[in-house]
Amino acid sequence: MRPRSLRARLTLWYTSLLTLTLLLLGTIAYNLLGYSLARDIDRALQGVAVALSEPPPRGRLPAGAPDVDAIFRRFFEMSPWDRYVERRHPWSDRTPQESPAGTERLPLSPQALNRAAAGLETFTTLEGLGPYPVRVLTHPIGEAGRIASLIQVGMSLESVSVTRHHFLLVMAAVLPLAVLLAGGGGWLLARRALRPVDQMTEAARRISAEHLDERVRTSGTGDELDRLAVTLNDMLGRLDDAFRQMRQFSADASHELQTPLTILQGELEVALRAPRTPDEYRRVLTSALEETARIASLVEGLLLLSRADAGVLRMDHQPVDLARLVTEVCEHIQVLADARGVTLNLEPLTPITIQGDQQHLRRLILNLVDNGIKYTPAGGRVTLALRKAGACAVLRVSDTGIGLAPEEQERIFQRFYRAPAAVSRGEEGSGLGLCIARSIVEAHGGSIQVDSADDHGSVFTVYLPL
Ligand code: ADP
Repeated sequence: MRPRSLRARLTLWYTSLLTLTLLLLGTIAYNLLGYSLARDIDRALQGVAVALSEPPPRGRLPAGAPDVDAIFRRFFEMSPWDRYVERRHPWSDRTPQESPAGTERLPLSPQALNRAAAGLETFTTLEGLGPYPVRVLTHPIGEAGRIASLIQVGMSLESVSVTRHHFLLVMAAVLPLAVLLAGGGGWLLARRALRPVDQMTEAARRISAEHLDERVRTSGTGDELDRLAVTLNDMLGRLDDAFRQMRQFSADASHELQTPLTILQGELEVALRAPRTPDEYRRVLTSALEETARIASLVEGLLLLSRADAGVLRMDHQPVDLARLVTEVCEHIQVLADARGVTLNLEPLTPITIQGDQQHLRRLILNLVDNGIKYTPAGGRVTLALRKAGACAVLRVSDTGIGLAPEEQERIFQRFYRAPAAVSRGEEGSGLGLCIARSIVEAHGGSIQVDSADDHGSVFTVYLPL
């Protein structure tokens, strides 16, 4: 079963890897130890064999001769025990072959004999001579330029076995201890390293839509967890902004809808309070109709914006003759310009056709020209121009009106924002027109910008890709 906690998983992985590494290292060390001990014994046996074969022995090798023990001691650096020495003359009539008393006869394989005849040494490991295997060297001895005899020296491998056994015992004791220590240390370290994650989880649990101003604690170390905390805080900041905007939007929208509804309700109530003449009723109904039209336009604007926000704005993609559309809108709005004493000016329009939604584009041009007329005092001028620039159609609506302060220029595209100068002029408006204009432009893949200096009019420029 997979442990559910990351800490347990980390510790488990860490401990398993460590155990595997220790086992691997232990196995390598165990084999290396065996190899090097065996090599040492072989070298010592060679030393003993050479020492015993010179000077060339004469007669019998005395039984238990002290020099054998001394020679073994010299090469094995310890008292010899379970040692074997045997001298043989397989190629002469000088039988019997001699061996020191107390040692058993060492077997001589035909292979070792043949190799000795050729002057070669042979190492063999014999089982069954004692409780431990015995390493035997068969060493040829030359006399007067030919191989005359051979000597066999053997040594019990007890020391090798015992040393390897001790090594295994030490490993068996140390390995679990090391794994236990490392596991415990790993568990503590993992707990320390993951504590910030627990704190983040706790903080994230506390944060809800109502408490989006809370933040996760950062350590400032710049490590992975700190970066995660910073990223979470950034995300919370963006969510907080989005929620704030949403709440502001609902409040503004309700407020904007409430005003015409209150007026409508008031007018109707007053009209119903006493009997009225048909003319009076007509006047009240006309006013009610105007308010209803305002509400309908507001609701339509809000709907368009929320659809654009959700990315589901219904758009036709038909060829639209922009120059014709601009002319049409100007003809339509000329009455309003005349009524306000504003001159509507059309510069020569370059004929341009783009792919887009005719209704939305009409609304865009209408909003801009309507604003130009609304925010330009009588005697002023609103000028429209359409030209091609690179891969864009550029529509410019400029006026000689009240203009915009730099800080207002950034805000006029926000929902419901109205510059103080516009409000104090008593102009009707909801503050949605430019926001809708921008949504339409963006839905066509274009952009809109404003240039203005206070009192010197404004210039709205729309770029629409061809
Ligand atoms: P509305 O005109 O209904 O108030 P808009 O979204 O069309 O809403 O415009 C937002 C604000 O931008 C306006 O209230 C006004 O302050 C400012 N504005 C828009 N067009 C112009 C313009 N041509 N000249 C000066 N100010 C403008």
